[in-house]
Amino acid sequence: MFDAIVVGARCAGSPTAMLLARGGHRVLLLERAQLPSDVLSTHFLWPHGMSYLNRWGLLESVVRTTPSYAAVRIVNEGISLTGEVPEKLLRAHFEELHGDGSGVVTTYASVRRRVLDKLLIDAAASAGADVREGCAVDELIVEDGRVVGVRGRTRAGTRFEERARIVVGADGRNSFVARALGLTKYDERPRCTFAYWTYYSGFAPRGLQLHRRGRLAAAVVPTNFDQSMTLVWGPSEWGAAFRTDVAGHFQQALSFVSPDLAERVRSEGRQEERFYGTLDQTAYLRPLYGPGWVLVGDAESFKDQCTATGMTHAFRDAELAATAIGSWLGGHEPLDSALRSYEERRRSQNAAAYYDYVCTLAEMRPLRHDELQLLSALRGNQEETDRYIATHADIAPVSEFFQASNLFLINDAARETSDQHAIFDGFAETSRSYLRNPFS
Ligand SMILES: Cc1cc2nc3c(=O)[nH]c(=O)nc-3n(C[C@H](O)[C@H](O)[C@H](O)COP(=O)(O)OP(=O)(O)OC[C@H]3O[C@@H](n4cnc5c(N)ncnc54)[C@H](O)[C@@H]3O)c2cc1C
Repeated sequence: MFDAIVVGARCAGSPTAMLLARGGHRVLLLERAQLPSDVLSTHFLWPHGMSYLNRWGLLESVVRTTPSYAAVRIVNEGISLTGEVPEKLLRAHFEELHGDGSGVVTTYASVRRRVLDKLLIDAAASAGADVREGCAVDELIVEDGRVVGVRGRTRAGTRFEERARIVVGADGRNSFVARALGLTKYDERPRCTFAYWTYYSGFAPRGLQLHRRGRLAAAVVPTNFDQSMTLVWGPSEWGAAFRTDVAGHFQQALSFVSPDLAERVRSEGRQEERFYGTLDQTAYLRPLYGPGWVLVGDAESFKDQCTATGMTHAFRDAELAATAIGSWLGGHEPLDSALRSYEERRRSQNAAAYYDYVCTLAEMRPLRHDELQLLSALRGNQEETDRYIATHADIAPVSEFFQASNLFLINDAARETSDQHAIFDGFAETSRSYLRNPFS
């Protein structure tokens, strides 16, 4: 009999198992796949993601093999902003969420999943969790209305059964645990992005560049193995047309969004892997806990990749859920109240506002005149630029940056700066032209 069984061993599951095992609890971690392996995901980690790794003593192993940076460059319609996430905001974020602001770092990195997930699962094993790869759970054991264990099958076909005081579903978007419990998704947001990416050697941008023009966007960031991950995305309703010629449309999108970046990729880059892609990233929420079970990571909620926060949010869930479960297992709190506090933090007003923010961005509407004026006004105002970047990354509350009085103050300067950018000439006509699908 285990204290906890964790189903799924990547960004959400391995840290949950690791933290519980470090707390002295008996943990079984079950993973269907064999690691190291990738999942369908790009892999950008914002500073709060890196801070979790640091809090858990795993950062050194990541930065030894992965380039890391502090400044991010975001270019919207030619308006370029470069900034960093301030340490003060990071600390405040951790204090509010976890009641502990220690271990924050301001760097970010893009870590291949085959590198990161292996490190995480190994850390769970080193902490004392019983880690079993190649083990797929296909049944929940329910007694008196309560989940008390799992049944499954190894790769070799051997059936197994294990019991625990609680089962943690960390098994991703298509969560078996959620389906077996009959949990329905709610607050679904089907308007999202399609995304395609690949890996180039031969050119090394310094840090992250993120470009946006009309309804399309592109990002490039150095990753492991001396390669750069290069990604394009757009509204999901253009995805089917994009897919008819992925290689050609990838270059077309890059050239449209950033001619400079497209030229570097063409002249210096050597494509090292095939294109990866997805057409549907519908966002959703699921119930978080019930009798004998709790969900973390994508199993519990998912949002579009456009702000690259899913892995970091999986880390957040792991720390919140492990704290709650550990408090109950340690006899400090009844299970229901411990999991209710996990839920309250996950479903806070800030979390809801950020969910809305990402889902709205994922619609990939052309940026409005006033939005561009605001971005233009941020140039030369480093403090607000950094706060904007922190807001975008879910480090500072969306409501604080976008509150009317803050926007009023920033925008006061906008009238003087907006005439410096081509986008403001013939704005209405340009915006209308952006609505046509360029791939059909
Ligand atoms: C296109 C795209 C790009 C993205 N880019 C980024 C990015 O740049 N940065 C970022 O932070 N996030 C990004 N994300 C989000 C990120 O991929 C996820 O939020 C993150 O992987 C969630 O981690 P997880 O552990 O919850 O789930 P997963 O990573 O999906 O892991 C779930 C694990 O559970 C296992 N499993 C499933 N069913 C069973 C079963 N029945 N028995 C045993 N094991 C099982 C699976 O094998 C898998 O290993 C992106 C997502 C997409 C789709």
